[in-house]
Amino acid sequence: MTPSWGDFGLTEADLAWHDDAACVGTDPDSFYPEQGPGITLDVAAAKRVCLRCPVRPNCLAYAIAHDERHGIWGGLTPQERRRHKAKTGPRRQDAEIGRLTRAGKSAREIACALAVTPRTVVRARARLRREEVA
Ligand code: SF4
Repeated sequence: MTPSWGDFGLTEADLAWHDDAACVGTDPDSFYPEQGPGITLDVAAAKRVCLRCPVRPNCLAYAIAHDERHGIWGGLTPQERRRHKAKTGPRRQDAEIGRLTRAGKSAREIACALAVTPRTVVRARARLRREEVA
């Protein structure tokens, strides 16, 4: 029996972005390369697909939010995602969103640049506005 998203505690809305993913129809195993001599080439092949993916920020944000520890998500390996998360901790991320907002970037542009969802940008902007008022 084919597993459904519900088997993993997810609704279809949680993963609606996946409908537009560049990896739809590709072999899912290619995004979970086996350890071994060919892993570098396998990872590179998966990352090439991610590079042309229109929902890469959503995918990366999802993987980080759900602490996905395996596979290529958002074009990053698990180790790269950990580094990305450490670099873009909430305070640092908010500061960067504030800087880009002041530079006139739209929420969507900022979301793409930081590999987060536009909703994350909107929430960060609200936090920054509250801090300015206080
Ligand atoms: S970023 Fe990569 S793994 Fe994520 S949905 Fe797009 S193609 Fe698939």
